[in-house]
Amino acid sequence: DMNTEDEAVLQREFDETKQWKNLPLLVIVGRPNVGKSTLFNRMLRKRRAITDPTPGVTRDPIEETAFVNGKPMRIMDTGGFKLEREHGTVEAIMDELVVEKTLAALKKADLILLLLEAGTATAEDEEFIQLLRPYRNRLLVAVNKTEGGRREADAWNFLQYGFDQVLCISAEHGDNMLELSEEITSRLDFSKVEEGEEEKKIRIAIVGKPNTGKSTLSNRLTGTEASIVSDIAGTTRDVVEGDFEYRGHTFTVLDTAGIRRKSRVHEDIEYYSVNRAIKTLNDADVVFHMIDAREGLAEQDKKIIAHASSRGLGVVFVLNKWDLMDQDKKTFKEAVRNIKVMFAQMEYAPVLSLSALEGDGIKELLNTAVMLYNELSRKIDTSAVNLALTDWVAASPPPQGRTNKFKIRYMIQTQANPVKFLLFATRPEAVTDSYLAYIRNRIRRDLGFDHIPVVLEVKGSR
Ligand code: GDP
Ligand code: GDP
Repeated sequence: DMNTEDEAVLQREFDETKQWKNLPLLVIVGRPNVGKSTLFNRMLRKRRAITDPTPGVTRDPIEETAFVNGKPMRIMDTGGFKLEREHGTVEAIMDELVVEKTLAALKKADLILLLLEAGTATAEDEEFIQLLRPYRNRLLVAVNKTEGGRREADAWNFLQYGFDQVLCISAEHGDNMLELSEEITSRLDFSKVEEGEEEKKIRIAIVGKPNTGKSTLSNRLTGTEASIVSDIAGTTRDVVEGDFEYRGHTFTVLDTAGIRRKSRVHEDIEYYSVNRAIKTLNDADVVFHMIDAREGLAEQDKKIIAHASSRGLGVVFVLNKWDLMDQDKKTFKEAVRNIKVMFAQMEYAPVLSLSALEGDGIKELLNTAVMLYNELSRKIDTSAVNLALTDWVAASPPPQGRTNKFKIRYMIQTQANPVKFLLFATRPEAVTDSYLAYIRNRIRRDLGFDHIPVVLEVKGSR
């Protein structure tokens, strides 16, 4: 018998006009051209989007929220990637990225729908079947293009691969969509679904020299001194985390080293160790780099900051203990200029004044973190990137000498948070640092990444 709690979940009406969080994830996979995007669009109840008739064209995985059989879920169409492709070509590199994203999606998936096409399995189908072996208990198999019972007999062929069941459908004509929908919802768990927006935590690392105010800030933000207590007993340096809410965002403060009262010497050693910094920064989105405003930046700060920016984290320079300074604009301008001189290559990073002790400037600091997080999360369409790139190259063409000549072909944003772009050029070894810096600056200025580092790599292309 079903208990009342289960019953309540099943009885619950999901309102399509509302937002839902903790949605289960359905991932649709299959070789190109089996009808994945046709099915995706049908489940989204969209009018048929343009499907690409060319088999094997790379498409990024796309994810949307949809209601299937009255239940909300996230559905991902993994696109048109091929598992095998000649190495070293632009297509192969783009495919690698898509494969990477797809494999990550399979791990996160609550249910995987493998789409096949009526007929005999191709070598590529077999590769997918192989790839999905570890996910057998959350796998559902559907055979597409069997409208009007056409080729249904062919579909049973696939049972030889040991699937418990194959569903015959037609994504284009809608045959058996009800059965498919019911099968999908019966295999997903909706008990954790709640009303509200999906929550993303903004992960903050507070770094800086000893005595700059890291623990004062951390304690103020998380409103707790609990972590100090654990310090007395422990000598280990586990990551300390504390959550707090601000403007509808959840923040997590990571490993604020200063929380633990250590001997000065010990802390100095740890602070200047790059390993230590890597550990602290690995999980962060945004770094608050604490500076004692009276002292300014130290030479040793450079290592940590360079590391943060090469990892593509958002960095805020925080001039702390501002309550001890002359509160005029000139003092602030001067301090900002000193930082910009020392870190010319990080001109884009915001500089703020703060009194962690008195709380002045906390709001501005957190607003800045939200702004950086939004920039970090931006993803620009490949077509928009290349439209802009054409302009930038026209405005400042590559050198045309006989030895240093190269041509810019194409660019893609391969990742958000950290933001990474990949530029394809003929003779990538000829592309100068200054040309890359030019492109990087244009990306930042023209595509909305004004205050964060942008990682730009160059790859060869004929
Ligand atoms: P994807 O590469 O797996 O996303 O495949 P598409 O959705 O782009 O579909 C590939 C081709 O198969 C398109 O020409 C579709 O019109 C066609 N197609 C999709 N579903 C069906 C179906 O149920 N029956 C038939 N006959 N063709 C279909
Ligand atoms: P940490 O070693 O970086 O964690 O630094 P602490 O948070 O322990 O702060 C070091 C000292 O600076 C303590 O005495 C704090 O009270 C003081 N301090 C921290 N922030 C401020 C501030 O904004 N203004 C003033 N005047 N003192 C501060």
